[in-house]
Amino acid sequence: MRLHLNENTAGCSPAVLAALRALDRTSAGFYPDYDEARHAVADYLGVPAEFVLLTNGLDEGILAVTAAAFRDRTRGVPEAVGVEPAFDMYEICTNALGGRMVTRPLSDDLTLSLDAVRGAVTPQTRVVFVTNPHNPSGTAVPSGGFAALAADLSAAPGAATGSSPLLFVDETYAEFAGESVIDAPVLERMPSLVVGRTFSKAFGLAGLRAGVLVAHPSTLEPMRQVVPPYSVNAWAAAALPAAIADRAYRDWYVAQAAASRRMLADACERLGLRTWPSAANFQLIRIGGRAPEIVAAMAARGVLVRDRSRERGCEHCIRITAGVVDDTRRAIAALEEALCAAE
Ligand SMILES: *Cc1c(COP(=O)(O)O)cnc(C)c1O
Repeated sequence: MRLHLNENTAGCSPAVLAALRALDRTSAGFYPDYDEARHAVADYLGVPAEFVLLTNGLDEGILAVTAAAFRDRTRGVPEAVGVEPAFDMYEICTNALGGRMVTRPLSDDLTLSLDAVRGAVTPQTRVVFVTNPHNPSGTAVPSGGFAALAADLSAAPGAATGSSPLLFVDETYAEFAGESVIDAPVLERMPSLVVGRTFSKAFGLAGLRAGVLVAHPSTLEPMRQVVPPYSVNAWAAAALPAAIADRAYRDWYVAQAAASRRMLADACERLGLRTWPSAANFQLIRIGGRAPEIVAAMAARGVLVRDRSRERGCEHCIRITAGVVDDTRRAIAALEEALCAAE
């Protein structure tokens, strides 16, 4: 059981599989057309189609944002600001593209402090990476704060030269939290704001690779130059409208994840393990000094969970995906057995 990468443990909607089965030889033989997928995604997010850029998973979106942000080399080594611990692609892309990652810790309750992030911004800052709900803590902050931060960044030192830093809000887990900063008038007013979404998690399309960047068209333009024209393959393009149309499936899965989160939090309370309130499809759990042992013991019982214990700010912690309730029940049983075995 894969509970280490926050995937949809049930997989995609059956309607997606039906759409893929309807593809034919020319679907594989011809370059893909994105019209239908792009419009379905834009409608789903409530923005005009020019405000979206489909990417090969949001990982590629993060690469495109970083490349676009670092394009201006006239002011020395470009910097990215983020928090620690965080999703590792921000730092990987920053390093790969010759920039420097500057991080601040999460607050003591493992929430994202927008003030701490704001305080790390310098004239060298080209992009600020934040995640809401946060990964790996699962904690969420009200999305109104991001528009305010985007406004502040537009007034930051670099803004005088006409290129203020981008604010990238990674909303990979927004479906589970039921909240988003995406709003057409806000994006219209805030050209520094870029929102990332993915169909990997709530929609269960991780294997197909489909993500999206959402921003003002002028902000997306340099990112469109980075993403190759046929980066999203025909199978992903065909899957998107079908996945988005099946609201019932998504709502069912979001409800399963919410119930699983509660089960995991309750089980941890019973076992005397610290957790943090998660708005995403996973739970961070402080398991203690033997985290690697517990992870191995759970793996031996067929349950993969993520060892985060070696990361700064995440010491003694593991992260477990909260997916289908039956899977969570098995995961909790394996966790209890692993804890007993480790005693
Ligand atoms: C999973 C994840 C992604 C990447 O998703 P893909 O669309 O599968 O590339 C991006 N950001 C965060 C925070 C994630 O957890």
